[in-house]
Amino acid sequence: MNYKASETRYQAMPYRRVGRSGLKLPAISLGLWHNFGENRAYEASRNMVLSAFDAGITHFDLANNYGPPPGAAESTFGRVLAKDLKPYRDEMIISSKAGWEMWPGPYGEWGSRKYLMASLDQSLQRMGLDYVDIFYSHRPDPDTPLEETMSALDAMVRQGKALYVGISSYSAEQTREASHILKALGTPCLIHQPSYSMFDRWIEDGLCDVLSEEGIGSIAFCPLAQGLLTSRYLNGIPADSRAAASDNPFLTTDKVELRIAQVKALNQIAQSRGQTLAQMALAWALLKVTSVIIGASQVTQIQENILAVQNLAFDEAELQAIELILKA
Ligand code: NDP
Repeated sequence: MNYKASETRYQAMPYRRVGRSGLKLPAISLGLWHNFGENRAYEASRNMVLSAFDAGITHFDLANNYGPPPGAAESTFGRVLAKDLKPYRDEMIISSKAGWEMWPGPYGEWGSRKYLMASLDQSLQRMGLDYVDIFYSHRPDPDTPLEETMSALDAMVRQGKALYVGISSYSAEQTREASHILKALGTPCLIHQPSYSMFDRWIEDGLCDVLSEEGIGSIAFCPLAQGLLTSRYLNGIPADSRAAASDNPFLTTDKVELRIAQVKALNQIAQSRGQTLAQMALAWALLKVTSVIIGASQVTQIQENILAVQNLAFDEAELQAIELILKA
């Protein structure tokens, strides 16, 4: 059946200005790192993308290597675009990235102009797009001069293949330097994409200050600590969860065990706020960043998570209670 977007899609989601740019992003964005590869049924992936769009999620975050296999998430997304979302292209912000290993040999990863330009062309082809809205350098490259990586980003904008550019996982110092180079080239850095959650707060130690000085927005990845900061593990480790998956080295059952006492205590605070833990964790991250990129394996998770925007405020007592738990 032909897809028609919900008429009410813009009623609940707040849209927040990205740094000192003209662009606004939804408070909650959807990432396609997991659950959009060839190991998932296409219809399940499609339903997640469409229900996100129906809920006002206008921003979809991808990268060259998301799969499995690498590239598959962009191909899946390209299929949904071609079949369902083409009429809505101008209502969408689509991002991609390059930096991690994508193809063999010396030109298949890191930050050379050679790799970045080729990778963007491949991403555009997989998604069936003329341009992406945001293109990121996915990680800093210790060996390539920053000027080369930044001038490749600038060239993409000049060629009309990207509207804005960003950087991901750059340190505070690298971010300041990258921002100065990009400003001099005439293509300001729109956004930084760092990891950020209650369990991963490195950006508070310098990066946030640099971003506000430079007028750069921020969008947090893994704001739910890959599912730890949700109700997923409150009663054990479900067989279909990310922690139980043998192909995911980032969230293991050991990591869940280490954190579960804190997770249960945080869940109590969430309940007292009339929120689920996932909703509270997203609201808390949004105190510091422009948008959060959630991942999901089920439509119901997206539906739960977007309700975070109904209560984004914290009082001092709640913030202190959260700090106490995080310090324990
Ligand atoms: P999250 O921290 O949001 O974790 C998402 C996972 O949490 C889901 O797959 C699901 O796990 C679980 N979950 C989500 N909502 C709920 C809920 N309401 N109840 C129960 N469980 C829930 O983010 P991700 O780790 O998925 O990363 C998000 C995005 O960030 C990526 O898709 C990507 O776009 C970006 N990213 C960027 C990186 C970079 O280097 N720039 C690195 C990593 C991610 P389950 O599968 O168990 O159901």
